[in-house]
Amino acid sequence: MKEKGKIYLAVPHGMCAGVRRALATADQLLEHFPKPVYALHELVHNNYIVGRLRTRGMVFVETLDEVPEGAVLLFSAHGVGAAVEQEAHRRKLRVVDATCPLVKRLQLAAARESSPGEVLILIGHRGHPEVEGVLGRADGRRVFVVGSAAEALQLPEFPGEVPVRLLAQTTLSSREVDEIAAAALSRCPQLEIGPGVCYATANRQAAVRLLAKRAPLVFVIGSPRSSNSNRLREIAAGAGARAFLIDGPDELPEPELREASVVGVTAGASAPGELVEATLKRLLDAGFGPVEPVISAEEEMTFRLPPLP
Ligand code: SF4
Repeated sequence: MKEKGKIYLAVPHGMCAGVRRALATADQLLEHFPKPVYALHELVHNNYIVGRLRTRGMVFVETLDEVPEGAVLLFSAHGVGAAVEQEAHRRKLRVVDATCPLVKRLQLAAARESSPGEVLILIGHRGHPEVEGVLGRADGRRVFVVGSAAEALQLPEFPGEVPVRLLAQTTLSSREVDEIAAAALSRCPQLEIGPGVCYATANRQAAVRLLAKRAPLVFVIGSPRSSNSNRLREIAAGAGARAFLIDGPDELPEPELREASVVGVTAGASAPGELVEATLKRLLDAGFGPVEPVISAEEEMTFRLPPLP
């Protein structure tokens, strides 16, 4: 067992403005409407939050067929395509849209051509609800989804007069997006860069890079399905730290803790503050400390809540 030293804590970490807005909306619905209240897909990709909402009367569904006519339905922070919105309307569901405004911005960019005949290149992970929602807004347009620089190099060549716009999923690694964008640019020099990685993702990634310089062992609090949490773990590992994605303090790995003298902690944009506090407490109890912040940026972003039905 090594002598224990500091806990470096990345700042910012944890919940972003979009997730806080989605949760505050869910709270209002659970307070003011008869249960159950339905949510299409996980409201945010965090097991603890989804479990807590479930016990309070929220039912998570994967398709609209599972929602009875006239029920209250919440769209998640990841957003949905236009067809889903229309189907919900047809089924007379009382929809509350918790799509993050920064995802909405991406959807609007996919829905509206900034010049006639514009082709879209979307950097993202196929199957992720945000990507599906953005694709579902780009009806009738030519869209290419690319997940890597190698895929971007396989893009067809577009004649110079064809306008091409690049969008990116909000929760990707900003450095990886830059690399993919550079590869896409080499295929089509007329490429225009549209919205992509959001402020919260970029700030948390900058902070975890600093963290990994100080702490050889880094814990990222977040659930396995959380895209931005996975990116934080990869970035810490890429910067040379041993990095673990943990859902909470119960997943702190004992053997690594015994051997560590200094640790780093951060949390994905969907991880609640309670889990960060509980993880820090467990580390303090194990002899680590004090906690020292490693700051990349101050955040003050807030979003207005969506209207209730
Ligand atoms: S990670 Fe960014 S885009 Fe996603 S909910 Fe948070 S603020 Fe919005």
